[in-house]
Amino acid sequence: RCGLIAIVGQPNVGKSTLMNALVGQKISITSKKAQTTRHRITGVRTVDEAQFVFVDTPGFQMKHATALNRTLNRTVQSTLGDVDIVLFLVEAGRFSPADAKVLALMPAHKPVVLIANKLDNIHRRADLLPWLQQMQQRHAFAEFVPMSATKRADVDRLFGILKPYL
Ligand code: GDP
Ligand code: MG
Repeated sequence: RCGLIAIVGQPNVGKSTLMNALVGQKISITSKKAQTTRHRITGVRTVDEAQFVFVDTPGFQMKHATALNRTLNRTVQSTLGDVDIVLFLVEAGRFSPADAKVLALMPAHKPVVLIANKLDNIHRRADLLPWLQQMQQRHAFAEFVPMSATKRADVDRLFGILKPYL
């Protein structure tokens, strides 16, 4: 089995960090500075005969519609047309108007997995429950995955969650 998986979300939510962790090598640049990723970057990982092809996308920049930002957004949208699964990343406990704009672009008939990243920043897990319930109202997410892209165990668990969708 084989599947194409897009990683989308606002700048700085941890897309490239997750991509590198999923693929197991540093192929996408991570940085505190937004727009480090300007082009699509793909990586492949085979786990128990299932082949995952990941696409790291440039972050959406909704505030300033410069020519570069428009190009970045088009790259993301054309990527989404081809994929089997979308990983929609947000920071756990947060949802900004900019995140809402990215969410509005999600394909309707494809599984969208909500990745609530940077879980390590949430000190009481119970605090996350009302937020998760709100997120459930916003989109028919296929899965909810609170995790830290920086934690190996969380990243390994994600493969198991994605496998049935290939
Ligand atoms: P991108 O713009 O969405 O690709 O985000 P990056 O992967 O470049 O990450 C942006 C920043 O968030 C970097 O400083 C990362 O080290 C940090 N980051 C990514 N994942 C996590 C996480 O799970 N926990 C914490 N605390 N920081 C993270
Ligand atoms: Mg990036």
